[in-house]
Amino acid sequence: MNKTHRLDLLNNSISYFREAVSYAQQDSAETNHWKFAILHVVQAMELAFKERLRRIHPVFIYESVDKPDKTLSLRSALNRLRNPQIGNIPITDVEKSKIEKAFDLRSELTHFEFNHSHDHIELKFAEIFSFMIFFYRSQLGLETTAFIDEEQHNKIIKLVKTRTELMERAKAYIASREDSTVWMCPSCQEDTFLTSEEQCCFCHHKEGIVECPTCGGENLESDLIDISDLYDWDYDEGRMVLIENFGLEESACPDCISETTQKIEDIRRSQYDEDRAMEEYYARKSG
Ligand SMILES: [Zn+2]
Ligand SMILES: [Zn+2]
Repeated sequence: MNKTHRLDLLNNSISYFREAVSYAQQDSAETNHWKFAILHVVQAMELAFKERLRRIHPVFIYESVDKPDKTLSLRSALNRLRNPQIGNIPITDVEKSKIEKAFDLRSELTHFEFNHSHDHIELKFAEIFSFMIFFYRSQLGLETTAFIDEEQHNKIIKLVKTRTELMERAKAYIASREDSTVWMCPSCQEDTFLTSEEQCCFCHHKEGIVECPTCGGENLESDLIDISDLYDWDYDEGRMVLIENFGLEESACPDCISETTQKIEDIRRSQYDEDRAMEEYYARKSG
């Protein structure tokens, strides 16, 4: 790798970051500028991750050592940075999942119709923005002035502060409820999903809580896993025909999924043993 490439990663990251910041501080009710702010800040993060890995060893910016023409995905970059053998950077599970949500958001913004609320995307931006400030300073050894102007910094800090205030308000709301059971919200990853209201009081994500058909435990609808592919199916004239469902329901929750899979394996094994015994019996009888 030549020297220009080396400089490009960091400089490009910073210019995307600056671009993101300038979109973010546009004071308008329109959601479109938030879309660009997210796209740019995620791009800045991707390049910063690669720069950090490159400083450990240039080979780490490639997906695989055998394919030095393909640079790695954001997810692999994140995994390498957290790997104690490589980056050993303290990025918590919660932070990791927030970062991954931001990746997903980027691809949604690029490929699909944009249907996120203004608030949601603003919060996402604030999260990644705060994370990037930490990353530039502590992981890439930059002074704040190297990647953001003071005035801009203050404006965005206000935005981040808004987020903190929103969070405090959400926590106070939870405390005021009689039934204050909260789960981690699948949308914002905060412990602010009020089960009694089936809604997150931070990002306002709504979702039904349902009983797991298999074990009866309470779960978020989106957590249930379709297990019908574990049934025995046959393919007949262009359609799937159910042979055997082993007396199972169509879905299971994360708590009981492994037990359920085990149960099917046990049934399959005992059916196989039984079939073998029958075969042997008939073979002996006719023989
Ligand atoms: Zn939420
Ligand atoms: Zn279950």
